[in-house]
Amino acid sequence: MQLLENYALKSFNSFGIAVSAKYYCNISSNEALQEVLAWNKKQHHQILVLGGGSNILFTKNFEGLVLHNTLKGIELVRESEHYYYVRAMAGESWHEFVQYCVKQNYAGVENLILIPGNIGATPMQNIGAYGVEIKDVFYELEAVDIEAQSLVVFKKGDCNFGYRDSIFKQTLKNKFIITSVTYELPKLPKYNTSYGAIEMELEKQGVKELSIAAIAKAVIAIRQRKLPDPQQIGNAGSFFKNPVIPTEKYLQLKKPYPTLPGYADGASTKLPAGWLIEQCGWKGYRKEDAGCYALQALVLVNYGKATGEEIYNLSEKIIQTVQHKFEIVLEREVNIY
Ligand code: FAD
Ligand code: NAP
Repeated sequence: MQLLENYALKSFNSFGIAVSAKYYCNISSNEALQEVLAWNKKQHHQILVLGGGSNILFTKNFEGLVLHNTLKGIELVRESEHYYYVRAMAGESWHEFVQYCVKQNYAGVENLILIPGNIGATPMQNIGAYGVEIKDVFYELEAVDIEAQSLVVFKKGDCNFGYRDSIFKQTLKNKFIITSVTYELPKLPKYNTSYGAIEMELEKQGVKELSIAAIAKAVIAIRQRKLPDPQQIGNAGSFFKNPVIPTEKYLQLKKPYPTLPGYADGASTKLPAGWLIEQCGWKGYRKEDAGCYALQALVLVNYGKATGEEIYNLSEKIIQTVQHKFEIVLEREVNIY
C-alpha cells in the first residue's frame, strides 16, 4: 500500500479541476484494498472511490482518503444457450470494454460506446445512452463493504436501478467499493436504432445490413460531433438529469411553449433538460473559464482554469432560471464533492 499525501487530482477528473486529496491510494489489487481499509479503520478518514473521474465535480480539496480503483481484468466466466457472462474488474475502461465486446460480437452494449469512465461506476448511475441502460445487461456485481471489510454480491434486484440512478447513488453512497461487474450479453443481438440520430447516421454511412460494429461506429460518430472531448475541454457530460414530470403538467407547459419536446411514458413525460436550459439563454454562455457548451446546453464546461466552485455557481444559476421560467427544478447528475 502506497499512501500519498496532498496529491494533485487535476489529471484524474475530466473537468480538469485543480484540487488535491489529503490522502491518495492507488488500488490495483484486492490485497491493497483490504490493507488500506484496515489502516483507515483507525484513521476514520472520509473515503472517496475514484474511477475515471468523469462524473465528478470537485468544489474544494478533498480532505479525506481517495481510493483510486485501478483493478484490471476481463474474463468470459460462463456461457448459456442465449448469453455470454463477462466479468470485468472495476478499474477497466468502459469504452475499451465495449470495444472488446464489439470485437467478440457480444451484443447489448454497442449503444453505450464512447461513454468515458470505468467499469466500477457503470452501475452507480445505471449509465445510459441511446435507449440502452446498464441495467439491460447487468447480471451481478461484487463490492467490498467499507465498514465490515467483507465482499458482498449484488444481483440486479438488489441495485434499485432507476433513471441515471441506483442504490449506490442513494442509501449505499460511499458505503461500498465496487470491485467487479458481470454483464449478461445476448448472443442474438436486439438492435436498438430508433433513438436519437442513430438511423440517420447509419443511412449517412451507407450501412445496408445492421451489425453490432455498425451501430457502435454510428454512435461514435454522433457523439464525437456533439460532445466536447474532455481531453480538449473539461466537462463531465450531462451536468443535469432530464426531468420527468407528470404528463398533465407537460401538456400545460406545451400551451405557452408549443415546441417543448417531451418523451411520454404513461403518466410521466421526460423533458430534455438541454432544451429548457437553452430557452433560458445559457447555451454558449461563458464567464471567464466556466461555461455552457455551445453544441449541447446540458454540458457545463471548464475552458481551462475554472474552479469547481465557479462551475457549481453556474449550475446554481441555471437551476434558478429554469425554475423561474418553467417551474421545474433541475437535479444535478454529476456527483459534487
Ligand atoms: P467517477 O467520476 O470516478 O465516479 C462517479 C461516482 O461513482 C463517484 O461518486 C464515485 O465515488 C463513484 N464510484 C466510482 N467508481 C466506484 C467504485 N468502483 N465503487 C463505488 N463507487 C464508485 N454518463 C451516462 O450515463 N451516459 C452517457 O452517455 C455519458 N456520456 C458522457 C460523455 C462525456 C463526454 C463525459 C465526460 C461523461 C459522460 N457520462 C455519461 C458520465 C460518466 O462518463 C459516467 O457516469 C461514468 O460511468 C462515470 O465513470 P467514472 O469511472 O469516471 O466515475
Ligand atoms: P439527444 O439525442 O439530443 O436527445 C435529447 C434528450 O432527449 C436525450 O437526453 C434523451 O434522453 C431524450 N431522447 C431522445 N430521443 C429519445 C427517445 N426516442 N425516447 C426517449 N427519450 C429520448 O441527446 P444527446 O445529448 O445527443 O445524447 C444522446 C444520448 O447520450 C442520450 O441518451 C443521452 O442521455 C446520452 N448522453 C448522456 C450523457 C451523460 O453524461 N449522462 C452525456 C452525453 C450523452 P435520455 O438522456 O434519457 O436518453
